Amino acid sequence: MALMQYKRIVIKVGSALVAPEGQGCSGKYLLAIAGFINTCLQRNIEVILVSSGSVAAGRNHVSHGSGQPSIAAKQAMAAVGQMQMIANWQRFFDCACSQLLITHGDLKDRRRYLNIKNTLRVLLENNVIPIINENDTVATQELKVGDNDNLAALVAMVAEADALLILSDVDGVFDADPRQVYDAKLIPEIPNITKEIYQLAGGTNNPLATGGMSTKIQAADKACEQGIDTYIVNGTQAKVFLTLLKGKNPGTRFTAKGTNLTAKKRWLKTTLKSEGTLLVDQGAVNALQRKGASLLPIGIRAIKGEFSKGAAITVAYIDDPKESLIAKGICQYSSRDLARIQGISSQKIETVLGYCPSQEVIHRDDLVLL
Ligand code: GLU
Repeated sequence: MALMQYKRIVIKVGSALVAPEGQGCSGKYLLAIAGFINTCLQRNIEVILVSSGSVAAGRNHVSHGSGQPSIAAKQAMAAVGQMQMIANWQRFFDCACSQLLITHGDLKDRRRYLNIKNTLRVLLENNVIPIINENDTVATQELKVGDNDNLAALVAMVAEADALLILSDVDGVFDADPRQVYDAKLIPEIPNITKEIYQLAGGTNNPLATGGMSTKIQAADKACEQGIDTYIVNGTQAKVFLTLLKGKNPGTRFTAKGTNLTAKKRWLKTTLKSEGTLLVDQGAVNALQRKGASLLPIGIRAIKGEFSKGAAITVAYIDDPKESLIAKGICQYSSRDLARIQGISSQKIETVLGYCPSQEVIHRDDLVLL
């Protein structure tokens, strides 16, 4: 499928494009990238940005001798550069941009994972561009994803994007190192990421970037596994965006395994273990099966099992003596909270619990019919 046919894409922009030549943030490449994003938005394609560049942008504000800066110095650079990076993006858009700083620890924690997912959903519903970076100032090595290529792949999974577009300063994956072999050829399609493909990737030669081709291939591997097509293209070339807009592939495309939907269903159905069951009334059964709706608290009649927010749970019809499972999904509430809101309308959740993180108990995006 051509990139412009997708509904939701994650675009990863590397440090070399945000803060080229280590001279702070620049609009040199971002102008064309933002133009492309604006066209996507006009065509009703939702865009989530994963932007690097905070360390590179903050570099000149933190003294650091001539060698590699210390971790603390890099974290300080990120603290300075992050706001400059976000401000730099905002100037290219009429709609609002937002900042999400996350770490691997956040993505591993079920509740925080769900919160990130919900926040992204609401931002996109409100036509706000989410701009994500790793929270470099707080993340210690073991809590980090470490590079934004892999972070972008994880974000694409959380956001259930259809495609991941990695913008770099190289054209894509070559059959030999183009810096050394003059007739190295660009590989336009990679249907399977094999050991040989990994071997084609060297590290980075840009002192301001963290990843290189190998982290990009890791990201493509992760994303394709989850049904997300991945592209690596050269974001320094404005003509690359024109090619993408024409529905062509100017770089390297990695083809996803199966569709996003089947990958998600497989994950929900098979990988996630159910921790409880909600018994629901006929109205809820109809809403789920016939209207593709979300599950609301009003239809819940009984709760089986103890589980926390973010758990996978199943749904069955209360008057079915066999309790055949009709759906499975991710629950927005713990079993304790659910016991207090079952049978009430969503408008009353806040009065009963004192907070209302979600009107739905299982959002339709997180639900599969069985
Ligand atoms: N989070 C880092 C930054 O903003 C970038 C990591 C990467 O380029 O992969 O500078």
